[in-house]
Amino acid sequence: MNRNKREKEYYSIDVGDSTFTVLKRYQNLRPIGSGAQGIVCSAYDHVLERNVAIKKLSRPFQNQTHAKRAYRELVLMKCVNHKNIIGLLHVFTPQKTLEEFQDVYLVMELMDANLCQVIQMELDHERLSYLLYQMLCGIKHLHAAGIIHRDLKPSNIVVKSDCTLKILDFGLARTAATGLLMTPYVVTRYYRAPEVILGMGYQANVDVWSVGCIMAEMVRGSVLFPGTDHIDQWNKVIEQLGTPSQEFMLKLNQSVRTYVENRPRYAGYSFEKLFPDVLFPADSDHNRLKASQARDLLSKMLVIDASKRISVDEALQHPYINVWFDPSEVEAPPPAITDKQLDEREHTVEEWKELIYKEVLDWEERTKNGVIRGQPASLVNTSKHL
Ligand code: AMP
Repeated sequence: MNRNKREKEYYSIDVGDSTFTVLKRYQNLRPIGSGAQGIVCSAYDHVLERNVAIKKLSRPFQNQTHAKRAYRELVLMKCVNHKNIIGLLHVFTPQKTLEEFQDVYLVMELMDANLCQVIQMELDHERLSYLLYQMLCGIKHLHAAGIIHRDLKPSNIVVKSDCTLKILDFGLARTAATGLLMTPYVVTRYYRAPEVILGMGYQANVDVWSVGCIMAEMVRGSVLFPGTDHIDQWNKVIEQLGTPSQEFMLKLNQSVRTYVENRPRYAGYSFEKLFPDVLFPADSDHNRLKASQARDLLSKMLVIDASKRISVDEALQHPYINVWFDPSEVEAPPPAITDKQLDEREHTVEEWKELIYKEVLDWEERTKNGVIRGQPASLVNTSKHL
């Protein structure tokens, strides 16, 4: 396409502190959120005739962390197609050449709110268990592709008013360092499992811990383990749940073990104390049963020792959750990830720039004539208004 024609397709508009340069098909931009990667706007797409969300990644190749994450997401988004994982409708860059390449815009389905906003609401058991069921379905699908998230949090989960839910990102790359001995920088780690905080080996049920923390917050209306840094995070966990057994200590590496064993000892609280009846709707026998099921599920997810914590499959079969069980959602065919080295990649800024640019061009090609993937509105058949 010649330069003039391309230039005519775009326009620039200031949104907050940032300028969005987008295709003219996207109008009415309004800021709706911001995350570690950039600003997100809602917009109206005149081609698809629907509202969309547009996320701007500013110079995503600028450092290893940003670049790896942006590249990983662009590649994984191509492989994953599940109704509980956000789908990309379009990807574009307004720059015309690799040399000029700066920013990437990701166009997604527009959802109504993130889970942080939903946590403030009084949810009945039906909505709470349905939201948890969908989180578990999305996570199961990621696990089936070999993607273990490890960093699920309410800000990275979005919902619609009909109670449908989607996970926004793919979490930490396998090679991302996390443990106690890492330099603290501002990230939300309230939902990270003990094995992530303590830099231990992990399995798929590392994500069940995060679901447990999110569920706890939805029930209590406040963060369960609000650690101020990674050390305080561990303190908050043991103050509430109690110092873990010697068997657990033996799984830690020597330096972490010395630290963990030298913390004061805590007995912890029972789940009846942590989640008393008053936190649940209890105006009927049905609700009383549901509250005890919800508490039972929490007690099985919030287990410090991963070898004793339930799996995603077991959580999906739990009486509080399995009322929603639908094999087409739980057992959707697993996505095939072709780039097996995705997490191991290390590149210079210039190499990342080229890799990301090529991914964007590939996406532009795939989405040229409208939507290639993403969920048509008609598939959203559950109407449970929050
Ligand atoms: P992110 O940069 O992906 O972490 O997103 C930051 C925030 O933007 C989220 O916490 C949401 O509040 C909002 N957001 C991102 N994507 C969407 C979307 N597709 N629909 C609605 N809100 C979104």
